[in-house]
Amino acid sequence: MPRFFKEGKGAYLWDADDKRYIDYVGSWGPAILGHADPDVIHAVKTAAEHGLSFGAPTEAEIEMADLLCGLLPGMDQVRLVSSGTEATMSAIRLARGFTGRDKFIKFEGCYHGHADALLVKAGSGLLTFGNPSSAGVPAAVAADTLVLGYNDVEQLEQTFSKLGTQIAAVILEPVAGNMNLIRPTEAFLSALRRLCTEYGAVLIFDEVMTGFRVGPTCAQGLFGIQPDLTTLGKVVGGGMPLAAFGGRADIMSNIAPLGPVYQAGTLSGNPIAVAAGLVTLKKVTAPGFFTALTAHTQALVEGLTTVAQAAGVSFTAQSVGGMFGLYFADKCPNSYAEVMACDKAAFNRFFHAMLAEGVYLAPSAFEAGFVSAAHTEEDIRQTVKAAERVFSRWQ
Ligand SMILES: *Cc1c(COP(=O)(O)O)cnc(C)c1O
Repeated sequence: MPRFFKEGKGAYLWDADDKRYIDYVGSWGPAILGHADPDVIHAVKTAAEHGLSFGAPTEAEIEMADLLCGLLPGMDQVRLVSSGTEATMSAIRLARGFTGRDKFIKFEGCYHGHADALLVKAGSGLLTFGNPSSAGVPAAVAADTLVLGYNDVEQLEQTFSKLGTQIAAVILEPVAGNMNLIRPTEAFLSALRRLCTEYGAVLIFDEVMTGFRVGPTCAQGLFGIQPDLTTLGKVVGGGMPLAAFGGRADIMSNIAPLGPVYQAGTLSGNPIAVAAGLVTLKKVTAPGFFTALTAHTQALVEGLTTVAQAAGVSFTAQSVGGMFGLYFADKCPNSYAEVMACDKAAFNRFFHAMLAEGVYLAPSAFEAGFVSAAHTEEDIRQTVKAAERVFSRWQ
């Protein structure tokens, strides 16, 4: 039975029966300040008093664009949209329009929203074209999506040497967070950058999840790799529907009205969403914010690993900034196949036992978890204590 929630405040959610949970889902990422942050709520209320939507530019929208371009070195220009799906869909269209090529590469297990061409899974062999992963997506729409293995440098190189001049873009999550959590290897990231430059393909970092979640300059700052385009969402809207895509000026200038690539949205840059996003971004980019968030998240994964191992449970965990992965396995997975090999039944058992203990984790072994700035050391301690009780009756 899914839980129905009626209230969120700070690190906690309350369900319809008034049971309190320590929340590690954070609305799937946006709630980095915790729920109903007073500054965000104030900004939303104030903005709402001045009108909900104008369908024309606002000063706050420009402030948001300047802020994003100032924070990310490779972001010369940015366009605001209302969801991560729109951001990635538009970035792919832009890369295709800019290069005049149709094919693009994505990686198995990465999620980029639900545009048709991105709902594609690997075909039956190496270098085969993708198959739709959802009903309603025509095979023809999936045919130009190549699906490769995350962190598989050799396969990436092979694909480029065979089809490189036909590839418009490569899109990836720079830390994969939609197949549990997988870190990119250094070799993978540098091969991506090198091959895209060599073949004139557009490197798109989909930072809808990692953007301002793993650090103040996103995953690209953390790893020191500059993509050509970046998509943002989740944290940038502070819980309201706001997302963005941006990057190199010579690519971005291909968007209408300057260029031939169409893109629009009735509610894009919505003043209330922008107000919530601006306050959120100012708080998360303040000095020390990520030092504390990273330390709390690390304390959580270390605490959980310690009590699991003490109880003899095959379990490990890791974190990057404010996101974490939990694995019922002996070591952290490095690929989609290794994630699939983790003990899913054990995760499901853990999830339900923790829920009963008042800890709300993502209800799937294939999702990353999130810690917010509202989680205190005491919240982390209580979570680890709960896990200790769960693991003590594990065998
Ligand atoms: C959540 C997510 C999206 C989709 O964003 P929506 O706002 O749900 O459309 C795209 N890419 C990544 C990496 C995401 O985590």
